[in-house]
Amino acid sequence: MLDSLTTVAYIGAGVLFILSLGGLSTQETARRGNLYGIIGMLLAIAATAARMNGGYPVLGGVVVVGALIGATLAARVAMTSMPELVAILHSFVGAAAVLVGFATYLDPNQHLTGVEAKIHEVEIFLGVFVGAVTFTGSVIAFGKLRGSIGSKPLMLPGRHLINLAMVGGSIFLMTRFMGATGHAGLIPLGIMTGIACVLGIHLVMAIGGADMPVVVSMLNSYSGWAAAAAGFMLSNDLLIITGALVGSSGAILSYIMCRAMNRSIVNVIFGGFGAAEGAAPGAGSAIEGEPTPVEADEVATIMAEAKSVVIVPGYGMAVAQAQHPLFEVAKILRAKGTQVRFAIHPVAGRLPGHMNVLLAEAKVPYDIVLEMEEINDDFPETDVVLVIGANDIVNPGALDDPSSPIYGMPVLEVWKAGTTVVMKRSMATGYSGVDNPLFYKENSRMLFGDAKKNVDAILGTLRGGQSQAAAAE
Ligand code: NDP
Repeated sequence: MLDSLTTVAYIGAGVLFILSLGGLSTQETARRGNLYGIIGMLLAIAATAARMNGGYPVLGGVVVVGALIGATLAARVAMTSMPELVAILHSFVGAAAVLVGFATYLDPNQHLTGVEAKIHEVEIFLGVFVGAVTFTGSVIAFGKLRGSIGSKPLMLPGRHLINLAMVGGSIFLMTRFMGATGHAGLIPLGIMTGIACVLGIHLVMAIGGADMPVVVSMLNSYSGWAAAAAGFMLSNDLLIITGALVGSSGAILSYIMCRAMNRSIVNVIFGGFGAAEGAAPGAGSAIEGEPTPVEADEVATIMAEAKSVVIVPGYGMAVAQAQHPLFEVAKILRAKGTQVRFAIHPVAGRLPGHMNVLLAEAKVPYDIVLEMEEINDDFPETDVVLVIGANDIVNPGALDDPSSPIYGMPVLEVWKAGTTVVMKRSMATGYSGVDNPLFYKENSRMLFGDAKKNVDAILGTLRGGQSQAAAAE
């Protein structure tokens, strides 16, 4: 009776997870998608707990402590640090798969024989391997996103051979593990875990800053497969389903992001596959000319006179938290008949959908928020583009400088507009460390300073203009 109830609950939770993923695909349904996910997860935890034979005080204790830590971290984390949080959470999934693997291997209650035992051993070995790669890879990704590890790719000579040797060594250890009697397999399992940990570090160290978005979603995918492997080890169907959903959706997202960045997925996973061994990444061609600075009130005037304005938000808008006054600016312009639209690059900010979340938070209507391919052809007919805290995603070198590390990545072609105003604090480079020729173009104006302060200043000028106009009427 309990078993069939659990099965029904698992099927229900599985369906809710699928509905949740479907809901998350558009902004309008994202809230509902999240809700389905939460209900599914509660159902899954309740059904799994109901299957246990005792041990409830321990379970209750760890759930309460874990929930408290998780809730505190999630409440405190800034939107800009979200990718780091996601990366470190992936590492927990990897570590959990490794621990489950070892615990299952040492479980005195396992009495499988023959083919079943062999299949179980394969599950354990693969689960620990994927888990260990995910664990250390995610820790390195966390360090790179946080900036504590440099974003430049580590290009060891013969690195693909090193990776191959590590995979080959692990396969050899698997044969030893499978042939071992009693708990003698612990030694090959332990050595393989060490090798897989090094492999995870090496794989992610070899990936350059510009490819980090794909790495985060690839690690998301790996963590799903690690969870699915843990599901096989624990004979938990729902964990297998959930792991497979996370694994495959992460892989699909990685593929979509690679297409958006014009990168080959094999190239990203293996870190510059096919690039010259030991070659340092390019720095882009030297740029000539001087940037033209501008003041906030001049920008307000330029924008007030424009018929069409496109706003391009980037990571700096997230840092400055400038989305709320920015939408106020957009509202004033729209009220006087200016066409105002927001253009979102697929890798703007530091995590997929970062800008969409911030604009939704500021209540910007979805119909004026456009994706790159929807708006790129409109720049030549646009009077003013306001680039706010974005850099790499508007770098013309990505299209015309083959020596640039981000060459080949499609970008928002903002320089084709009448005037492009770039808001940032200095001439510093963006995430990928490449200089940006956009800042030196004749029709570009640099508005230096914190984006929030400058948007507030533009808003102040526009409001001043509004009240003057009202007084004159
Ligand atoms: P960039 O990192 O290229 O540029 C952001 C710019 O914002 C900086 O040049 C900085 O210049 C400016 N800035 C920072 N703080 C402020 C502030 N308070 N006020 C005003 N400006 C500020 O960001 P983009 O969004 O253009 O591009 C995203 C980059 O991140 C890409 O390279 C992408 O590959 C990478 N990435 C994306 C991920 C994703 O999933 N979206 C994940 C990981 C990486 P200054 O210091 O002069 O102010």
